[in-house]
Amino acid sequence: MSIGFSDRVAIITGAGNGLGRSHALALAERGAKVVVNDLGGARDGTGASPAAAEEVVEKIKALGGEAFSHSADVANFEEVQDMVAETQAKWGRVDILINNAGILRDKSFSNMDLADFRLVIDVHLMGSVNCTKAVWNIMRAQNYGRIVMTTSASGMYGNFGQTNYGAAKMAVLGFMNTLALEGGKNNIHVNALAPTAGTRMTEDILPAQIIGLMTQESVSVGVLLLCDEDAPTRTILCAGAGGYATASMFETDGIFLSKADQNPENIRNQWQSLSDTSKNKALLTGGKQTEKFVMKAMANMQS
Ligand code: NAD
Repeated sequence: MSIGFSDRVAIITGAGNGLGRSHALALAERGAKVVVNDLGGARDGTGASPAAAEEVVEKIKALGGEAFSHSADVANFEEVQDMVAETQAKWGRVDILINNAGILRDKSFSNMDLADFRLVIDVHLMGSVNCTKAVWNIMRAQNYGRIVMTTSASGMYGNFGQTNYGAAKMAVLGFMNTLALEGGKNNIHVNALAPTAGTRMTEDILPAQIIGLMTQESVSVGVLLLCDEDAPTRTILCAGAGGYATASMFETDGIFLSKADQNPENIRNQWQSLSDTSKNKALLTGGKQTEKFVMKAMANMQS
């Protein structure tokens, strides 16, 4: 069955450019009513302009879709609340939220001002928190919601010069993990996208030939899946250049040391066994780790 979004209302942050713009057009093309949010600043977050978001709205309307723009700064909760109130007044619901807005302030950690660190956290993490908070109770009351966080390989795996960005992008995954647990009973699914695409964020770090393969559209088809009624929950979908994968965090089974053996030398001596990945498990809640270790300790008591 094909995926469609008629009667669904979607808010996409940072949708004036790049991936957000592409997600907005893809959702509108499949019938969603779209709020095109964008502050309209430069790549480093300076400046503001409604022009880019308005262009996307005009494009959607020209294709026969419904859309309006809102220039809320996602880092400002009052502005975000205003955007959600306008959406409710116009269309009466919010089914989909894509937390996509983002900026870069790259520098090696030794040269990074804390102000640049905080701003990146404010936009990526607090921007996602603000927008989610503003729609959360609406989605709970509707008993329906699909939320997409935008993470990054830079957060999951590291990237020189991006301590601020990497920390923020990992933080949205922590946010997702618990939100997905809390939203489950109200049919709110929360997932994350780890994209790689040619946009103004990447245009000066990759050769044009490679950028040509990394289309925004190839990433947006993955987002459509995460916005669907049958979307998974708590999945990290990685997408780029027509390649798709999932990313997960696993924990090794580990070892147990009795009280007398609990010293750093023994941990070092058993490093190979404790880091043996053959019995890796993805743990469904934080409590599962406690459970695993306590079970090992109890098994040792009984033996
Ligand atoms: P982009 O710069 O083309 O688009 C980001 C948009 O967010 C811009 O239109 C910008 O005006 C808007 N924005 C920035 N701050 C905002 C704020 N405070 N409030 C509202 N809007 C704001 O970048 P992109 O590459 O399309 O990135 C989109 C998302 O994907 C970002 O979260 C980025 O970190 C993530 N990402 C991109 C790549 C990639 O390869 N392009 C890789 C990993 C993650």
